[in-house]
Amino acid sequence: MKSAKTRYDVLVIGGGATGLGVALDASTRGFSVLLVEQGDIGQATSTRSTKLIHGGVRYLKQGNISLVRESLVERSRLLQNAPDVVHPLPLVIPAYKRGQRAFFGLGMWIYDRLAKDGIVGASKILGPEETADRLPGLRPEGLRGGVLLWDGQFDDARLLVSLVRSICKAGGSVLTHHRVNQLRRDPNGRVCGAEISPVIAIQNNAPDDADTQQTTQPFVVEATHVVNATGIFADRFRSQRTARVRHSRGSHLVLPRSALPGDTALLVPETRDGRVLFMIPWLGATLLGTTDIAVDGPRLEPQVTPEEVNYLLEHARKYIDVPDAALEIRSRFAGLRPLVTRQGASAGGATSKLSRKHVIEETEPGLLSVMGGKWTTYRRMAEDAVDVFAAGRPCATRDLALDLSPPYPIPLDQPSVRRAVLEEHARRLEDVMSRRSRWLLLDAVGAVAAAPQVVAWMADALGEGPAWIERELAAFGELAAGYLGQGRA
Ligand SMILES: Cc1cc2nc3c(=O)[nH]c(=O)nc-3n(C[C@H](O)[C@H](O)[C@H](O)COP(=O)(O)OP(=O)(O)OC[C@H]3O[C@@H](n4cnc5c(N)ncnc54)[C@H](O)[C@@H]3O)c2cc1C
Repeated sequence: MKSAKTRYDVLVIGGGATGLGVALDASTRGFSVLLVEQGDIGQATSTRSTKLIHGGVRYLKQGNISLVRESLVERSRLLQNAPDVVHPLPLVIPAYKRGQRAFFGLGMWIYDRLAKDGIVGASKILGPEETADRLPGLRPEGLRGGVLLWDGQFDDARLLVSLVRSICKAGGSVLTHHRVNQLRRDPNGRVCGAEISPVIAIQNNAPDDADTQQTTQPFVVEATHVVNATGIFADRFRSQRTARVRHSRGSHLVLPRSALPGDTALLVPETRDGRVLFMIPWLGATLLGTTDIAVDGPRLEPQVTPEEVNYLLEHARKYIDVPDAALEIRSRFAGLRPLVTRQGASAGGATSKLSRKHVIEETEPGLLSVMGGKWTTYRRMAEDAVDVFAAGRPCATRDLALDLSPPYPIPLDQPSVRRAVLEEHARRLEDVMSRRSRWLLLDAVGAVAAAPQVVAWMADALGEGPAWIERELAAFGELAAGYLGQGRA
């Protein structure tokens, strides 16, 4: 940054789905863009999702038709613009009570109609035999059948890296492991930039690049428009305003593939607290989630509690009958939803009832805050945000094919680790283990065992020495404890 440009049209704070979406939208409209992320890409919420690109069966049940419709339009765009990273997923809702099949069938018929020509696959009412074939291990006692529906599934981290690649291709810049400390205002009080600090010092392994090594000194970037896309942290840059972001923890367990063999996901239509729950085949494992628990404030590494583990396994066991080994927890992870309230964050009430519709606010002159929403609608959120200042430059992302990041193998090999570090912005061991490969999320024990080899390959690519290796291994060990169920709440 010392030698780079320090004036941009747009400065985006936050490198999750929202911020990267805004940076891509603005770059492809011809603005000069810098995005600053305090940690790694998607470090907070955007890599901890349930990995569904969906209209949201639950929102349909709540009668939020416009959100479902908007999400279904974006679902079909993502399937088209990021094929391979986003793919169709069949889901089945099993029915055990009289009338349930017809009720769910009607709901899914409406879901398909709302998708119009963006339909992924037609929903279908299934008999008991077909339902059991789709969901091996499903409890047969009292099974009346089920309803098959289709949505999209993805690897959230891979889509984020694909967004970064696309931003860079469009001429934008992405700076990770740098924090925006405070906003800068011009003499008229308009936000005109920010003070930024490196979060870790990085050594560059190319000797002729010595001048571009980052310092730990703060520096200033000026910008005509600043966008606050900091998700669960959004209220920090809205200090003059009533807090609007509420935080709700959602936890997942990662189980062996044998928990739900086959290619179809199970959608549990009603939990004891009135939610829906998913069991989804994902990257050779089974993802079980999620919970919805209001918490007090933002936190980068929320922990899955023992109560949540019990809640999730209890509901899984209600529907599937498999040997205990198939429900052995391979990893666990939690994320916080950035939910926007209209009444102010202190108003209380159930977080599951809060709308997932996004909010765009001109917080003060020069500063736009983009809050709430969901992964599925990230592109639309970005379009709406950039429209505020685009002055007639049309949006170019609706049909934009993303520059897709190839998947990382597990176990990782040296060329893949070099790619993560040299081409895809990974700087810390956890970046590679958690958000380039998904090793930590899929098999926490295996990831911990492989860490010494992976960090040695990283050090080689980054030109780092033994002290760095030791520090990274210690930090990763502490982080991994949470995924192993040994973390501190
Ligand atoms: C458990 C769970 C399951 C979900 N499942 C789904 C799903 O299946 N489908 C779906 O569509 N949606 C899902 N969502 C919702 C979706 O994940 C979120 O809406 C979305 O990821 C939010 O993205 P974001 O960019 O706004 O926030 P984030 O991803 O949190 O990004 C904000 C970024 O800002 C950075 N930041 C903060 N302060 C600063 C600063 N001062 N300087 C620099 N950077 C800063 C943070 O480090 C962070 O990376 C789920 C959410 C949760 C929690």
